[in-house]
Amino acid sequence: MQHEVDYDHRLAAARKAVADACVVCRSVQRDLEQIRAVTKDDRSPVTVADWASQAVIVRRLREELGHVNMVAEEKADALRQATNATQLERVLEAVRLVWPDATADDVLDAIDHGHDMPEGKSSEAPGAIFWTLDPIDGTKGFMRGEQYAISLAWIEAGESVLGILGCPNLSADFSHPFDQPDAHGCVYFAYKGTGVWEAPADDPDAAPLHIRRLEPADGEPIRVCESVETGHSKQDDTARILEIVGATEEPSRLDSQAKYAVVARGQADAYLRMPTRKGYVERIWDHAAGAIIASEAGCAVTDIAGRSLDFGRGRGLEGNRGIVCAPARPHGKIIGAIRDLGLDAEPTE
Ligand code: AMP
Ligand code: MG
Repeated sequence: MQHEVDYDHRLAAARKAVADACVVCRSVQRDLEQIRAVTKDDRSPVTVADWASQAVIVRRLREELGHVNMVAEEKADALRQATNATQLERVLEAVRLVWPDATADDVLDAIDHGHDMPEGKSSEAPGAIFWTLDPIDGTKGFMRGEQYAISLAWIEAGESVLGILGCPNLSADFSHPFDQPDAHGCVYFAYKGTGVWEAPADDPDAAPLHIRRLEPADGEPIRVCESVETGHSKQDDTARILEIVGATEEPSRLDSQAKYAVVARGQADAYLRMPTRKGYVERIWDHAAGAIIASEAGCAVTDIAGRSLDFGRGRGLEGNRGIVCAPARPHGKIIGAIRDLGLDAEPTE
């Protein structure tokens, strides 16, 4: 395969970008209450963090790699409006923690560069190569002060081949409850064919640890994780599946793609995402980084019908429904249970 930039260089740039975003998001989260008070809007803290995180990531990638094709979640349109001057000020304040000389125009330009493929290229074109970014995945978790992730992945011809997941509130200690933020957090990164690493989110110089997922012992109950939000994953369906596969524990619930990391590192045996409604199409940035991290750790990552995820269909996973991520044996059992229950069929209403 021909690459215009060396993979190691690309990975190093992406790690720096996510490290910057972790600093920015942590700082906004610390000021959560103050931002809510100033803007009198409950969503403000997350939008400030979303914009600031996207700005610093795009800036760092461009600085390290030159031109970058990006499919990121946020746009700067609203931030350009005079009524949102306070928000822009907040974004600039957060961005300057890692980009001290940034101006408002620099920030707006960086955010907009992250939206859609520049130069009229399409992410759906055969063989398209681009970054996909969710600057804050797990918005609701961020607002509750619980789990969220900064998710950056590199897509080549419909496949996620490099992923970085910054999880600023996820503890490396498995006994630490998910709903309580950790002081350090974790970062996971993976690059196809070379495995997965874990490092502390607040220390970019720390030596990363190679992690590998073992198959759970046959006969052991399957430990599952899923979304906190019942609107994002149908928890009743998960419960029916778990009854068939012999899981005895209630699923662990946490927001964001941190769920893929939790399975990759062996804290849970499966991540299930059961569609809640007809026609919902998963966003590529909600899965691209997590999927490569879990699969490089040794997990199967598919949709609920066992199909591999196709990241080459635009901003959505148009060819897929839901997610099942698990090592081979539990993955096979779960897919079988979904089929037996008829839950893989597209609902008629
Ligand atoms: P999670 O934290 O795993 O619940 O996932 C958060 C993501 O769920 C957000 O980034 C949204 O893009 C996505 N989302 C929003 N609505 C739905 C839905 N109806 N079904 C599945 N995912 C959704
Ligand atoms: Mg998201």
